[in-house]
Amino acid sequence: MSFNVAIDGPAGAGKSTVAKAVAKEMGLIYVDTGAMYRAMALYMLREGVNLRDTAKIAEKSTRADITIRYEDGVQVVCLNGENVNAYIRTEEVGEAASVTSPVPQVRENMVRLQKALAAGSDCIMDGRDIGTCVLPKAQLKIYLTASSDVRAKRRYDELTAKGESCDLQQIKADIEDRDYRDMHRELSPLKQAEDAVLVDTSHMSQEEVISEIKNLCRQAREK
Ligand code: C5P
Repeated sequence: MSFNVAIDGPAGAGKSTVAKAVAKEMGLIYVDTGAMYRAMALYMLREGVNLRDTAKIAEKSTRADITIRYEDGVQVVCLNGENVNAYIRTEEVGEAASVTSPVPQVRENMVRLQKALAAGSDCIMDGRDIGTCVLPKAQLKIYLTASSDVRAKRRYDELTAKGESCDLQQIKADIEDRDYRDMHRELSPLKQAEDAVLVDTSHMSQEEVISEIKNLCRQAREK
């Protein structure tokens, strides 16, 4: 049986940075499920679909073939055969993903693919519904969070370090909107699984978070 770690939590909690680092050290494959929902959102944006038109999103989603593969340990997301890694990291695509991800037809295929990946490999998978829905039997579940002020400030620092101008209050408002949508949707809303370990990183450094999660992984693996 493969060893599976599920990490869920709100936008900007640092899930991907932590999961990537832990995956490398523990010899696990890192599966970024948000990237898959982002690829689907990119498809809708490119097709000019009205994001309020749920029926259209459902219909169009059947024409977007989303797959993932690994190149030198890096996850590559393909949309109808095209590597779209370079186009999915924008705020626009992230926002669009949180609007299109509640559509059942969008989730069905993604969840099937994610379950198959986890069944075939030791992995650490991050997202919103991994512990509650995709991998209910994961050997370790973590709910990673931080206050919205802290998450907004981290994102602000990241963007300004890249030389992009941005507004802290706007970033905080966008993060809170996204959290609200992800937590209040009907299908697989973001919530802490009953058996998940809560890690609040508001007052922790990145190194502290990585070390804590590595310890939790080691303990779970030894069980
Ligand atoms: O984690 P990331 O910001 O890349 O996710 C983008 C959006 O994709 C989230 O806001 C959420 O709406 C959706 N998502 C989801 N289920 C997952 C992962 C992401 O609904 N497992």
